[in-house]
Amino acid sequence: MELYSLNVTNFRIDGGAMFGVVPKALWQRVYPANDENLCPWALRSLVIKSENRVVLIDNGFGNKQDEKFLSHFYLFGGDGLIEGLAKIGIKPEEVTDMVLTHLHYDHCGGGVVQKSDGTYALTFPNATYHISRSHWEWAIHPNVREADSFLPENLHPMMESGKLHLVESEGELFPGLELRIVNGHTRGQMIPIITFQGTKVVFAADLFPSTAHIPLAWNMSYDVEPMKTLKEKEAFLKEAYENGYMLFFQHDYHNECCSLKQTQKGIRVDRTFTLNEFLGEKSAWGKS
Ligand SMILES: [Zn+2]
Repeated sequence: MELYSLNVTNFRIDGGAMFGVVPKALWQRVYPANDENLCPWALRSLVIKSENRVVLIDNGFGNKQDEKFLSHFYLFGGDGLIEGLAKIGIKPEEVTDMVLTHLHYDHCGGGVVQKSDGTYALTFPNATYHISRSHWEWAIHPNVREADSFLPENLHPMMESGKLHLVESEGELFPGLELRIVNGHTRGQMIPIITFQGTKVVFAADLFPSTAHIPLAWNMSYDVEPMKTLKEKEAFLKEAYENGYMLFFQHDYHNECCSLKQTQKGIRVDRTFTLNEFLGEKSAWGKS
């Protein structure tokens, strides 16, 4: 198995929205904002390449949204989706599995392209698109609060493609790839956990958008059920710390991965490192 980190783009959004009830005086010390209160965020995907599969986890905003939409996100840097995959030698038609943690536009928009005739097609024509059933049903009948995050042009082409696989429950999707389901950020978010040479690598998605979201009360105001997020984080951190899991962050602009340690205040970041640093020193990695 090979793992690749792919930073599709970076973007900026309001720091207050990303830290919920935490006062700016506290969060800006660990995650600085600019004069307009905007903080930089990454939009990483993870590629898992094995003998017979190429699995992509999440795929960014995509390129079918207009300038007005994108102007809210101040995009900068990153490798792009198709370009980033090309850098690691992968063509769109080689992707066998598209795992979507959830269907907010920054996680799934890259999975559907708009063709020159205005119609839509899957970006990865040979891939099965995996989404939890509970999230799919939540997203196609959206609540008022999240409705703007579920774009019909992202969802409908997937439904009509016949390539959608609705994941019924937690557990192993393939050997080496397990899915957990959490419900605080949105209903039915899937958290992929990859077993790589004995270490569990967690694609933290919007359960832990960044290292700054590890303290239990540091949550996004986007979460639909904040108390559930808090409980889910608490249980997951305990399991992750006790078993030496490594967290891979989709949105942390400053840190790609971290290990965890126990402190008097609770479980916190131990070391931060890039995925490539982890892969390089895999043989020296602690618990397995
Ligand atoms: Zn989200």
